[in-house]
Amino acid sequence: MKIGAPKEIFEGENRVAMTPESAVQLIKLGHACVIETGAGAKAGFSDAVYQAAGVEVVPSAAALYETADVVVKVRGPEADEARLLRSGQTLISFFWPAQNPDLLAQVAAQGATVVAMDMVPRISRAQKMDALSSMANIAGYRAVIEAGNNFGRFFTGQVTAAGKVPPAKVLIVGAGVAGLAAIGTSVSLGAIVNAFDVRPEVAEQIESMGASFVFLEFEEKQDGAATGGYAAPSSPEFREKQLAKFRELAPEMDIVITTALIPGRPAPKLWTEDMVAMMKPGSVIVDLAAERGGNCDLTVPDQKIVTENGVTVVGYTDFPSRMAAQASTLYSNNIRHMLADLTPKKDGVIAHNMEDDVIRGATVAHAGAVTYPPPPPKVA
Ligand code: NAD
Repeated sequence: MKIGAPKEIFEGENRVAMTPESAVQLIKLGHACVIETGAGAKAGFSDAVYQAAGVEVVPSAAALYETADVVVKVRGPEADEARLLRSGQTLISFFWPAQNPDLLAQVAAQGATVVAMDMVPRISRAQKMDALSSMANIAGYRAVIEAGNNFGRFFTGQVTAAGKVPPAKVLIVGAGVAGLAAIGTSVSLGAIVNAFDVRPEVAEQIESMGASFVFLEFEEKQDGAATGGYAAPSSPEFREKQLAKFRELAPEMDIVITTALIPGRPAPKLWTEDMVAMMKPGSVIVDLAAERGGNCDLTVPDQKIVTENGVTVVGYTDFPSRMAAQASTLYSNNIRHMLADLTPKKDGVIAHNMEDDVIRGATVAHAGAVTYPPPPPKVA
């Protein structure tokens, strides 16, 4: 089959779904690879490097969609792109089917198959295809780098001839994939790191990474766990305790990175305006929940603001795209693993096995029908 990656057309998107390295692996599966000219340029991969890896370069998106059997992308298709999909063609990209029901119905009616990378079940066997995790890991890392870039001091404490420097104090709110990456990065830079999550089971992971878990004194256990390792909304009493604890911490913290999300809901507001007012000038907040409304009251999505008391609040929503080379490498590996499972005989023939939990879970349109939502996976 011919696997093709078009140029991403979403404003500011720098990633690409196929790298020269992933193309080499796809060719080993018996496929041929094609890209639209310039598709990898913003991630640092020139047409010439693709060609050297055996990839055909075509001059336009129309030519790419015309020739490819499988189109691989980062962002879900925009309306103009969706119209180019043909019956029998497969699209593999992020898609967010719950948020895009009309687009999904349209693509299904056109007869295309859609494998949504955001729908890959989060089970052990599928970790290599888990693009939500690979991108969240990058976002967590980059949030710390962004914080450092806006913080006028060292992370690590130093005793120098010119004076003693205290270590930066960092608070990470939410210790899922992005939060744990932010903890690891902050600790490795030498900061003193505290982390909070409503799921008590993450305390051990946080502590094993060299950070301190922020415990609440609460009669019931610190338990916001819902199913599948995700969080549930907190009770009003729990929330009050949590906010009281954050008010205690706010004047001390130099950097706050918030990552708290609850599936299917807007991000919980956890870092309130009065907490920002209590922070020292020069402190930095990076809100990784900005796209879902933000954990901080003052977050403006896609912008960086500085408050009257000198606190920087970063609300960028494109951290993985800001590390396009790394993000493209990991994302294209996730796609390559998905294609390996779709090509079981390594003979360049796609066998779309809807009995396979991972393939079934991620397939949201197939054979002319919408196949979302999937049945629950059989294997945990
Ligand atoms: P997420 O992005 O949905 O949420 C981020 C974090 O915010 C979570 O840890 C959540 O508990 C926390 N949170 C929610 N409300 C909060 C509040 N009020 N205060 C503080 N924290 C709050 O999470 P994620 O990174 O997608 O991970 C979700 C789960 O999936 C985790 O248990 C993770 O280990 C698991 N996971 C499993 C696999 C796998 O097995 N393949 C892969 C990735 C993630």
